[in-house]
Amino acid sequence: MPVAVEKPPWALIDTVLLDLDGTLLDLAFDNYFWREVIPAAYATSNSLSLDAARARLLPRFRACEGTLEWYSIEYWSRELELDAVTLKRAVADRVGWLPGAQQFLRCVRAAGKRLVLLTNAHPKVLQIKDERTAVTSFLDAAFSSHSFGVPKENATFWEAIREIEPFDHDRTLFVDDSPPVLQAAREAGIRWVYGVRLPSTATTGWASEPRDHGPFPAVDSIAELTPEGPHAAGSPGSQRPEALGPLRPLPRE
Ligand SMILES: [Mg+2]
Repeated sequence: MPVAVEKPPWALIDTVLLDLDGTLLDLAFDNYFWREVIPAAYATSNSLSLDAARARLLPRFRACEGTLEWYSIEYWSRELELDAVTLKRAVADRVGWLPGAQQFLRCVRAAGKRLVLLTNAHPKVLQIKDERTAVTSFLDAAFSSHSFGVPKENATFWEAIREIEPFDHDRTLFVDDSPPVLQAAREAGIRWVYGVRLPSTATTGWASEPRDHGPFPAVDSIAELTPEGPHAAGSPGSQRPEALGPLRPLPRE
């Protein structure tokens, strides 16, 4: 059984780096898309049964896990000869927040921290999800790893992000639901690294099983990390002015 973890020491944190899918937004959407929508479309276009389509796709998905291709909707559109962006748009009404994620973002912003999205989602997918949720309106900046040519699992990503989003490693919190990404963040020197155990609101089946984050402190939901009270704001010097600068534009592919 996982043990209860302490909240991050908010007074010692200036910057919060956040994953998107499975940390802020419900991974149930992505699971539905890749396990139901894509296999069904592939079955139709190749005159296969749904089971046969799944049997063909699963090993191809597995072979790419952790690579940038795995996260690229354009790669899969080419590979499977499907318009995956249009398919995704067609079911975008299923995109949704994880419980408590918006409140977490509001409280972190109220506490004066800088909020930065670091996602492996393709810019086109981020755009679709942003249209549904306005997630980037909660953030000071948003970056897709596709802009850097390497996923968050790769040390090169962390070197590249530091070039354009300078942060103090010792005063930065990073939250993600992917164990290899947490490991990469730790190896990049991020001081406060937390895992999300329940990236999906699924209540049955494999997707409802809590993720094991091994040595990393982990919470069921990012809501558990929400800062509370005046201590969360840190010293007056660390407060940001109330007016926020313009959002850094989303990277283009
Ligand atoms: Mg994730």
